[in-house]
Amino acid sequence: MLPHADGVGIVLKSSPSEKEGIGGASKSNFEGVTEGDNMSTAVAKWPIFRAKLKSRNLVAERTMAFHFDKPASFVFTAGQFIDMDLLSPSETDAEGNTRGFSVSSAPYEDTIMVTTRLRDTAFKRVLKTMPLQTEVKIEGPFGDLRLHNNPKRAAVFLAGGIGVTPFRSILLDAASRKLPHRILLFFSNHRPEDAPFLNELQSLEKTNANYRFIGTMTNMDKSKLPWHGERSVINKEMLDRHLKDAASPIYYIAGPPGMVKGLHSMLQGAGIDDDEIRTEEFTGY
Ligand SMILES: Cc1cc2nc3c(=O)[nH]c(=O)nc-3n(C[C@H](O)[C@H](O)[C@H](O)COP(=O)(O)OP(=O)(O)OC[C@H]3O[C@@H](n4cnc5c(N)ncnc54)[C@H](O)[C@@H]3O)c2cc1C
Repeated sequence: MLPHADGVGIVLKSSPSEKEGIGGASKSNFEGVTEGDNMSTAVAKWPIFRAKLKSRNLVAERTMAFHFDKPASFVFTAGQFIDMDLLSPSETDAEGNTRGFSVSSAPYEDTIMVTTRLRDTAFKRVLKTMPLQTEVKIEGPFGDLRLHNNPKRAAVFLAGGIGVTPFRSILLDAASRKLPHRILLFFSNHRPEDAPFLNELQSLEKTNANYRFIGTMTNMDKSKLPWHGERSVINKEMLDRHLKDAASPIYYIAGPPGMVKGLHSMLQGAGIDDDEIRTEEFTGY
């Protein structure tokens, strides 16, 4: 029987929002914000920034992290996401010039980092090739996928592939603020080659004794790298084995919609109430 809480929890799903149908967010609390550095709120009800691309680097196969300078007044909570607009891109397509991205850097880090799969779309081709110092428009932050307050309840992160991005931010933030929360990250990928930030997330166990990393690779036949961890999809049996001492956990799921829905119904099937589940669907995958 999967451990679950008898306490009251909350469900937060960032479903397509009221704005252009992508990415849930509470946007009302930005009324009356005045002009600031690189920020304007003339028409929008949320902060809008301009930020320059500082650097980019591969963090897994066909997966790249993009580092943008962080305007002084850009304040976010680990786990939140932004909307990024390409300004006069060298090419475009029917999918448009805007994408939602979880901020994969932690609030204490110097840049705004977003991490994405380099799919063959106009948006991603531009992001990968545009000159450094190119400016983009950033809207937000948005979203409510953030670590719960009550440290007596364990946090169980279920991430599939690129879905790990908000969890990297939360985990580095929790380690740097020495939060007492017990946190377990289940990170599922086909192969180690496809797993963003794999080494960093594994070695974070050394700096945060409250944190456990459980990686699983579901397609090792196609890998050239060694792997000594789990090899099945994240399922009830695996959670049962690793959550024996996790006190009344709250579950967090992030990643491509299909994966999120699958894990969500697996938890519901295991008797976990929606009050104890938070989800972030990366619509578009
Ligand atoms: C809350 C949230 C967080 C996300 N975090 C990440 C992340 O950390 N890393 C990542 O790789 N992907 C993330 N995504 C998904 C991302 O927005 C793209 O959909 C995805 O990267 C695929 O883009 P593409 O160019 O490869 O595919 P395409 O098929 O070209 O584009 C995907 C589709 O999504 C639509 N779309 C996505 N975002 C927006 C938006 N904000 N406004 C309007 N239309 C949009 C596009 O119009 C298009 O129809 C997130 C999505 C959401 C909703």
